[in-house]
Amino acid sequence: MKLSFATSDALAAFSLALAMPAVVASIGEARAQAEPDRSDALKQQAAIGVEKRSKLVQEMVDSIFSFGELGMQEFETSKYITAILEKNGFTVTRNVAGMPTAWTAVWSNGSGGPTIAVGSDIDGIPKANQKPGIAWREPLVPGAPGHGEGHNSGQAVNVAAALAVKDIMVREKIPGTLKLWPGVAEEPVAAKAFFVRDGLFSDVDVVLFTHVGSNLQTSWGQPSGTGGVSVLYTFNGESAHSAGAPWRGRSALDAVELMDTGWNFRREHLRPEQRSHYVIKDGGDFPNVVPSTATVWYYFREQTFENIRKNYEIGTKIADAAAMMTDTTVSHRIIGTAAPQHMNRPMAEAAYENIKKIGLPTWTDDEQRFAKAVQKLVKGKEAGLDTELGPLNAPEPEPKSGGSDDIGDVSWTRPTITIRFPSNIPNLPGHNWSNAIAMATPIAHKGAVAGAKAMAFTMLDLLLKPELVASAKSYFTDVQTKDTKYQPVLTNELPYIEMNADIMEKFRPEMKKYYYDSKKYKTYLEQLGIHWPTLEKTN
Ligand SMILES: [Zn+2]
Repeated sequence: MKLSFATSDALAAFSLALAMPAVVASIGEARAQAEPDRSDALKQQAAIGVEKRSKLVQEMVDSIFSFGELGMQEFETSKYITAILEKNGFTVTRNVAGMPTAWTAVWSNGSGGPTIAVGSDIDGIPKANQKPGIAWREPLVPGAPGHGEGHNSGQAVNVAAALAVKDIMVREKIPGTLKLWPGVAEEPVAAKAFFVRDGLFSDVDVVLFTHVGSNLQTSWGQPSGTGGVSVLYTFNGESAHSAGAPWRGRSALDAVELMDTGWNFRREHLRPEQRSHYVIKDGGDFPNVVPSTATVWYYFREQTFENIRKNYEIGTKIADAAAMMTDTTVSHRIIGTAAPQHMNRPMAEAAYENIKKIGLPTWTDDEQRFAKAVQKLVKGKEAGLDTELGPLNAPEPEPKSGGSDDIGDVSWTRPTITIRFPSNIPNLPGHNWSNAIAMATPIAHKGAVAGAKAMAFTMLDLLLKPELVASAKSYFTDVQTKDTKYQPVLTNELPYIEMNADIMEKFRPEMKKYYYDSKKYKTYLEQLGIHWPTLEKTN
């Protein structure tokens, strides 16, 4: 049975449907069904509470899109979200874990009840700045960052869900605590393991995380993907005149190139599931000055704690060898880490029941045409937006490789699930300007409303059913961590809060001109003068 919570008509149909299963149920079940389940009635109210906030969802999605901030520099974003939460009675703590853009926002009702941590990422992608709602590449600010992953949408999901649930908790006197938090600097995986280390989750029972996707879905066990270490290697040599006295120089850039060459040879003899990549952050200044410093930034990704550590150690050994070959020195700094994820089974099963009740948004012809135009543009499969819910994803015997998310560290600390919501177009490259195109359009807004309902319903399950929290905890203790324990890579590192400051300093003044003014314009598309959808360039 798939019930849509999209309209009040559908809500009426849902109430009707609630009364019906008794007809076919056994006598025992019939007795249980005789009184309408309280949680179903409250979910119905939560759906209305989220719908009532669809304007807030649109404003938050559009505003955070327009800020387009990179990791550790999410100042406008965090100021904006915490102001909304404070206005709604949450107690905000800033500068969490020593990160100026990190915060928690806590609200409690009564005493007792579970503490539910509710998180979602907030950072953008370099050079992904893009006008929304047009089916071609055109940045608002050339070269600037943007939301080419869709991290502008998750906090709207969480805030709308939390506010809808808060109303119900007050009215129904349901005890419990909601603790909202941001995934700062997810792209460099630079925050969540620090949050774990510094105790952000020590007073938390369970964690609900949301992430943008192209369907409404969740999973349990180890999903496809990897964990990893994100680390900078900085070499130090000696400068000299590159033509006049090159023999007096020791090139730090040579060391970087030798390290990269060494790693690229070694890569053949690693497990095929590994993923590793690097960029040279500092390769010298002038060709005629032997580079005295050079820095290369590596991601070493693998699927188990052991293999992540092993590859990180191989990388460091190759860096040491490159330093030896060039008579330079090398130091390294961990920017962040991501544990391989493991998601909680009882929580995922409960969330999936809610997902089935909500279903996917009904997409209009315009939305489908736009999605197909963007898919065509980037040579993805032209399938449009998803119209069928996927299954509850159970772990595969051999999970595929792929990206990482530092929610992994959280998932080894407290029972955790991620709910993905359909705010983006499927079959795009990811971390690309095209992944930003839909992220301030009705596709993103509708997907976030659906996601907020799934989050709100699952929060209610956790608040109303102590047995669900208990089984989530026993899965965590007796199944997930029975044989495998969390192995953090961090020891006493400081968070890399200065990262991306130079990029934002360069682009922010121009980007500011395009911040969304929700008092003046109904939507960001309206502010930009973009007719929705625009499929082709015209003059
Ligand atoms: Zn992400």
